[in-house]
Order: sequence, then C-alpha cells, then structure tokens
Amino acid sequence: MPIQSATETVPAIVLRTRPLGESDLLVVLLTPEHGKLETAARGARNSKRRFPGGLPAGLRGLAGVARGRGSLARLERFEASADHSPVGRDLDRFAYVAYLCELTDELVLARHADALVFAALCTALAAVIEAIPRPGELRRYELALLHALGLLPALELCCVCGELALRGPDGGVAFDAQRGGVLCLAHERGALRLPGVVLAMARDLAAGGDPGPLDAGSVELRRGLRDLTQTALRAHLRRPLHSLAFFAAMSRSDAGGGA
Ligand SMILES: [Zn+2]
Repeated sequence: MPIQSATETVPAIVLRTRPLGESDLLVVLLTPEHGKLETAARGARNSKRRFPGGLPAGLRGLAGVARGRGSLARLERFEASADHSPVGRDLDRFAYVAYLCELTDELVLARHADALVFAALCTALAAVIEAIPRPGELRRYELALLHALGLLPALELCCVCGELALRGPDGGVAFDAQRGGVLCLAHERGALRLPGVVLAMARDLAAGGDPGPLDAGSVELRRGLRDLTQTALRAHLRRPLHSLAFFAAMSRSDAGGGA
C-alpha cells in the first residue's frame, strides 16, 4: 500500500535507528500495512515532545508517517503502546529484543507487507519484555519468520519426493538443510539425523504452539532446536548477526548462536 502525503497513523515496531545529519534519525519500522519502512525523523534526537522516551529497537506503538522525499518516508511522531522500560534494566531482555529486531531487519525485504510477521514479532516482543525472556519464544518466532518468507525447511515430508520421512531405528530422521529439510529412506543418503523429538517440537512451534514445553525440555532438545533454526536462518543471512554476540556473554547460551 503506498504511503499518503498526509500523515497517516499506523501500528509499528522500531527495528533499528541510526543518526541522520546533526539532529535527525533514520528509523527503520516494521508495519503491517507497509511492511519494513525506512523513515526520517526530523529533530528526533532532541524532540521529547514528538518522541517521548526516544526510539529504542523493539518499541511498539503507533507511528505517524507521511510520504517524504525520495525513498524515505517521514516519521512525524511515535506513541508507545507498551511499557518498554524493562528492556533498559535487564541485559537478557536487551539481548532478546536486539536479536528479534536485527533478525527481522535482515530478512524482511523493504515494503513487503506481511501482517503475520508483524503479529508474530509483536507476540514475541511482548513475551520477552513482559515476562522472563525464554529461548522458546525466539524459536517460535524464527520458525514463524522462516514460514512467512517461504524458507521453512520441510519438517515432515521428504523435501525431494514428498513422502513421509519416517524415524529410523535410532529415533532420528534424516535432515539436510541445504537440500531443503527432512528426507525419506530413499533419499536420505549421506544426510545427518535429527532426533524425532526435535522435529516434532519444531512442527508444533511452527504451527504457533506453546514454547513452554521446549523451555522445560532437556538441554539436547533445546540445543537441537536452536541448531535447526540457526542452520536454516544462516543460509539466508548475508552476515553474522551482531546481536548473537550478546548471547555468548549470557548464561543461557542455548538462546542463540554459538556452539
Ligand atoms: Zn524422498
């Protein structure tokens, strides 16, 4: 949907900002109607009236946007709809929010509207900001994002022939991210095996299931699912995400990245 020249108020999430000139900010927003939108916020580094509390990544609210010059829209104001202050008080929350926003910014194309991605990011941000942040929320969001972008690996049917990929005697299912996901007995040659419980959990979360059982699950299950989503995502990222470095410094190393 094109942006109007008169200011229009839309739900939005701040994904990223950077300084623009001496007092302006470039603000990358995710919106349901216009997708990912690059905007210029004039005077944002000084205006407490139009941007009370600033524009931190992960902030959810209502944005006043209008058509600007060239490809940049104008961001006239931003009114937060949720309390963002817990993010500034806690390194875990900060890391989770930074990761969710950077991943979205890297993978979603500009102006590609997708209300499902917007809703999934709102849900994930609310969960990690308003409750104790847990890796299960990251996994569910990663799978929702991969699905929305058409990049979700096959989790049940062989990615070559479409037959059901059965568990072997060890309970594992052949999986090859490069080839597109799980493989049946006829096509599994040379592929690694993923535990059947990891794939079952991935299918459940991809369908929007509750991440609680994953967070309460074994280390093997949590690491298995983290490795599954990280492998699938890495194939589509142009560079390693800066925010993954935060997780390396945290006790919950199963949250993202790393070994
Ligand atoms: Zn097959």
